[in-house]
Amino acid sequence: MLQVAIAEANLGLAEGGVPIGAAIFRADGTLISSGHNRRVQDGDPSAHGETDAFRRAGRQRSYRDLIMVTTLAPCWYCTGLVRQFGFRTVVVGESETFRGGVDSLQELGVNVIDLDSAECKTLLRGFIAAHPEIWNEDIGVD
Ligand SMILES: [Zn+2]
Repeated sequence: MLQVAIAEANLGLAEGGVPIGAAIFRADGTLISSGHNRRVQDGDPSAHGETDAFRRAGRQRSYRDLIMVTTLAPCWYCTGLVRQFGFRTVVVGESETFRGGVDSLQELGVNVIDLDSAECKTLLRGFIAAHPEIWNEDIGVD
């Protein structure tokens, strides 16, 4: 599942954007949607990887049994989305570069599976080193 999110992150990088990807799966592993951070591409500060995948999934009757997969731990904004719609499982590629709302989700009883992926770390850290100002804008640091 993480490979789908990584492929999205690479797509975003190729477009000149922040390389963070996400995907939403059913519990049986069926892919519903995927997306990536499009903030730079679309000039839309709300277009994070998770929100892009979420919008592309369209309306779902319930999110309880869906799995949100993302290459990076969700920020506060995306943590709110997970909480609001009731996802119970979130798979993160890594949470070392950015911890986001992992602890908060765990306190809420969300099952957070951290894959500690070296590929995800390398991908994002390369971008941050090259474009620190874009990264800081992404996580709301000024
Ligand atoms: Zn986010």
